[in-house]
Amino acid sequence: MDSTNQDQSVPVPVMVPKVVPWGQDPSEIFRKYRLGLKMGQSVRIAILEESPSQMRVHYDKFYFYCLPKGCPACRAGSRAVDRYLIWVYLYETDDKGAVRMPFTGSIKGWQFGRDKFAALTALFAEWGDLRKLDLTLTCSDEKFQRMSISPARECVWLRDPEKAKEVIDLFQAEKMDEILLMARTLTADEIILEMSNAPESAPSRAQPAGPAQPDSYAGSGYATPREQAHPAGPAELSALLDQLDVLPK
Ligand SMILES: [Zn+2]
Repeated sequence: MDSTNQDQSVPVPVMVPKVVPWGQDPSEIFRKYRLGLKMGQSVRIAILEESPSQMRVHYDKFYFYCLPKGCPACRAGSRAVDRYLIWVYLYETDDKGAVRMPFTGSIKGWQFGRDKFAALTALFAEWGDLRKLDLTLTCSDEKFQRMSISPARECVWLRDPEKAKEVIDLFQAEKMDEILLMARTLTADEIILEMSNAPESAPSRAQPAGPAQPDSYAGSGYATPREQAHPAGPAELSALLDQLDVLPK
């Protein structure tokens, strides 16, 4: 029996598998580094970078990067939005939200949109370098990760230089490529495929409203994902630690 396909009238899309490195399950990375709060939960964090990384992304079931030229998602009318990530230290706290001393914690990539960027900018304007300030976050909406952001009375991680060094060492060991964390990198073809699979009733996604966005990177000063990998890092942090007047010499 002839097993070849006789009907050549319908072109079959060419599916090409993607070659991926071992040990990089994006969802695992996401679970490990995501700072996600539950409804009513309060956490205490310390910001470890001077300023956040910023990328242009689209949302369609998940975040993916807007392409700098001829982005199919922009052309299809999807709005590209700003997405930010800043590395933080998440303190372990007791049931009442108090830091257990001597403190322990973990490194997280805190991701947010323009609303929290604005809130943090306001804090920066009032307090200066946010690395010298612990923040308390209290979640009021789990789905959209809405939360109040308030400065704590004391910056615990900088109280003791040895413990501060431990935090920096942990940051150096754990910090990873933000590009893998913030969104998925899709090719133009993959975006087209993804958008065509969108459910029929997906007119206006329930995203927090924001100002109108430009349709592409053109003239916006934004770099492509790879160009924009965050240059700041632990070296800068160590330099800061040397300069900090809050630290005993
Ligand atoms: Zn786009």
